[in-house]
Amino acid sequence: MTVIQMPHRDETNIKNDLIDEKKYLIGKLSKYGYIKTEKVKKAMNTVPREEFIPKEKRSYAYVDRPLHLVKGQTISAPHMVAIICETLELEENMKVLEIGTGFGYNAAVVAEVMNKKGHVYTIERLKSLAKIAKEKLKVTGYENVVDIIIGDGTLGYEKEAQFDRIYGTAGAPYIPEDLKKQLKVGGKLLIPVGNNLNFQELICIVKKSENEFKEKSLGGVGFVPMIGKYGWEEK
Ligand code: SAH
Repeated sequence: MTVIQMPHRDETNIKNDLIDEKKYLIGKLSKYGYIKTEKVKKAMNTVPREEFIPKEKRSYAYVDRPLHLVKGQTISAPHMVAIICETLELEENMKVLEIGTGFGYNAAVVAEVMNKKGHVYTIERLKSLAKIAKEKLKVTGYENVVDIIIGDGTLGYEKEAQFDRIYGTAGAPYIPEDLKKQLKVGGKLLIPVGNNLNFQELICIVKKSENEFKEKSLGGVGFVPMIGKYGWEEK
């Protein structure tokens, strides 16, 4: 049996490799059409994904796959973050609601797409993750544009409603009614919906009027379950 020795990666090696790997990944996401606009490209270039994952996984930061965070939760794959940001058609000064903060990466990218001029409210049900996300958003300079709320995102965030954009990064059994209510007319809602815990369809809704919604599916995805009053029950 031949054992292949991986080259030793010290801190400088990792840093240089990450720069190259990030360039390659963003090039690939652009070439294959996940990244469509300059602003999403710039944002994904600017936000350091390596800062939003556990330290021991830093060298995987620019591999196009989800990564395990803690407590069974995951950071989405970069192509999924690109799909979310492009589909939302974010503009400066928008008010955005995210359900499922994780370590805060997607929220930071959304804030960056808006040139840090809008505001992101992000709800996380697990206190320990919210605490880590708060620290990470501070270190990377997004603390003033991203607010973390600890709670059940299936209820939305009435206090700051209505929102220009709402998106979920966890899969719900159906679209929570409160989220539709808390969306502005003309606003967009993006949420993974499915009847199986690990497989959903990414549903995009445009609110045409107070009671009229246009709905389409962007295809199959696999997010962790959204757990809450209008989500799944905790196992
Ligand atoms: N957006 C994150 C990915 C988060 S994974 C990122 O960029 O890294 C999904 C997160 O949703 C988990 O942290 C999970 O705890 C959280 N979650 C699940 N159900 C929730 C609910 N009802 N309200 C708020 N957060 C929820």
